[in-house]
Amino acid sequence: MSILIKNIEIYNGKDNFIADIYAEDEIIKNIGQNLQVKAEKLIDGTGKILLPGGIDVHTHFNLDLGEFVAVDDWKSGPVAAAFGGTTTVVDHIGFLERGSSLQSMVDHYHEISKDKPIIDFSFHGVMQETEDSMIDEIQTLYDEGIVSLKLYTTYGGKVEDDQILKVLQKAKETGTVVCVHCENDGSIKVLREESEKEGHFEPIYHAKTRPNVTEAEAINRLAYLSKIAGDPKLYIVHTSTSEGLEEIKKARKNGLKNIYCETCTQYLTLTEDKYLDEVEGLKYIMAPPLRKEKDVEALWKGIIDGDVDVIATDHCPFMFKEHKLKYKDDFKKVPGGAPGVEERMEIILTEGTKRGVSINRLLDLLVHNPAKIMGLYPKKGNLSIGSDADFVIYNKEQYTISENNRHSAVDYTGYEGFKSNFKVDTVIIRGKVVVEKGKQVAKEGYGKFVKRIFEKH
Ligand SMILES: [Zn+2]
Repeated sequence: MSILIKNIEIYNGKDNFIADIYAEDEIIKNIGQNLQVKAEKLIDGTGKILLPGGIDVHTHFNLDLGEFVAVDDWKSGPVAAAFGGTTTVVDHIGFLERGSSLQSMVDHYHEISKDKPIIDFSFHGVMQETEDSMIDEIQTLYDEGIVSLKLYTTYGGKVEDDQILKVLQKAKETGTVVCVHCENDGSIKVLREESEKEGHFEPIYHAKTRPNVTEAEAINRLAYLSKIAGDPKLYIVHTSTSEGLEEIKKARKNGLKNIYCETCTQYLTLTEDKYLDEVEGLKYIMAPPLRKEKDVEALWKGIIDGDVDVIATDHCPFMFKEHKLKYKDDFKKVPGGAPGVEERMEIILTEGTKRGVSINRLLDLLVHNPAKIMGLYPKKGNLSIGSDADFVIYNKEQYTISENNRHSAVDYTGYEGFKSNFKVDTVIIRGKVVVEKGKQVAKEGYGKFVKRIFEKH
């Protein structure tokens, strides 16, 4: 398969220029002016822009929470991602029963994703307890190309400090990235009990019982544990608060190396005011919760200043009518999570450029940094000759994001009515058109599992 795109404005993370791009056998072969080469597929890119394919390193396809399973499986999730300009995801896998080996959880995800995704993908490992045998598995997974894993400091599967330290120490040895969901579990538990006693069940109490400092405390703790472990790669997922970001900046200032900051689309565009509507607000129940305007502004400043490394989504959708509305009388019972994998690229490009951030800078956070931090680079996240031909053509055209133009299996979008200045036109993965002018072209199962690797650590 070969493909040639003529006369298109290319953004590669460093420069933008009008050129032709040619790919063959899944790889970018040439980028230049007036390429004279015959291709099986020819696209005229006049007036359009071409960006590297989006990389979302925080999704939860098919996440099984017991009572509910996130409604995008390994078919519909990747389709939604592709339509939104994302060509690779690294998914945070769910737990199996306690005591399960890391390998069995990864094997389970290989099974449930078999022959389904239309985009390329990988998994992060996950730990809910750390017996010595599991710690040893960190190396085994690393050798299989799963070079990152996740820990939670809250929820049922939370890991205690002593165990966290052991994982960080092992990760220091193997080069594994330790992704951590940072919230102070104890204080959230007490605040939720208090709100219950006081008779507060409305969605705004979801935010009030997880105040900013609960995130900041856990980030601070993780940074110090990482110091003790000798600065392994520590990746803070979905940073949502000004205070949390300050902790990351402080840790770096104090000399901590290898700490990475992820935030998500929702924390850059939405605020806790959404919870004031007691019905609509249920759509935004997720942890951490939406925050205040000052947090949104602090995170954008963090992007501009280079303190935030990655923008992901935490895509984890549950049905509004069937799942969330059922528990409208108590925010604590509403399944936590929201869609976002399809909206991320268009919304961040729109919102970022409106704020004066260049497209190339935004691509650092949407494509290049996630690829580098998670071991996908330079195969992925690299619009250069020799890398995978993953790229997306956009029209610079205004359109309104709405439930009726989404591709997720869920029944709502949290960004209803958002006016995007960019519209995905054609999506190319490893040199093959996957989505073209609003239609899915690739067959299910086209996507490949990507074995991740670091060039050196
Ligand atoms: Zn998550």
